[in-house]
Amino acid sequence: MPYQLEQQHLGEIMDTAQLTPNAELKDLVAEIVSSYLANNHVAPADLGNLITTVHDLLKSLGKAPEPAPSLIPAVPISHSVRQDYVVCLECGKRAKTLRRHISAMHDLTRDAYRIKWGLKSDHALTAPIYADQRSVFAKRIGLGQRRKMESTALSAIDNSSAAQ
Ligand SMILES: [Zn+2]
Repeated sequence: MPYQLEQQHLGEIMDTAQLTPNAELKDLVAEIVSSYLANNHVAPADLGNLITTVHDLLKSLGKAPEPAPSLIPAVPISHSVRQDYVVCLECGKRAKTLRRHISAMHDLTRDAYRIKWGLKSDHALTAPIYADQRSVFAKRIGLGQRRKMESTALSAIDNSSAAQ
């Protein structure tokens, strides 16, 4: 069980990191990080960053005068991804993509946002239809290149038949 091993290391990493959490905060960080690790793959090199992110997030939540309201999403998480828009759990904004919004408006990295709301690492921050359009667009570009190649091939055939 690799995650149990990593959980054992969490305390050591927190001890060596530039963090001075109290025992309660330390337990909470370990709990959140280990449950995140159970659902998401995190490279060992990113583990320190993840712990720092969770720690800072919890610390900032602890400082907030009204911690409870900040943990109620603007819309239920199950309603936050629609076919043609996604909804920001922080403020309820609807957008094609929230990738810039969450950092610009809420000062959260994508990881911090996903951890805060308990989202999986593949939770969509871009509306599926918008992501599809991008891949359709990419295919069209590929198709255009193919047409160009076909017409080049055809003119080559024309040239060779004209030479005969
Ligand atoms: Zn927002």
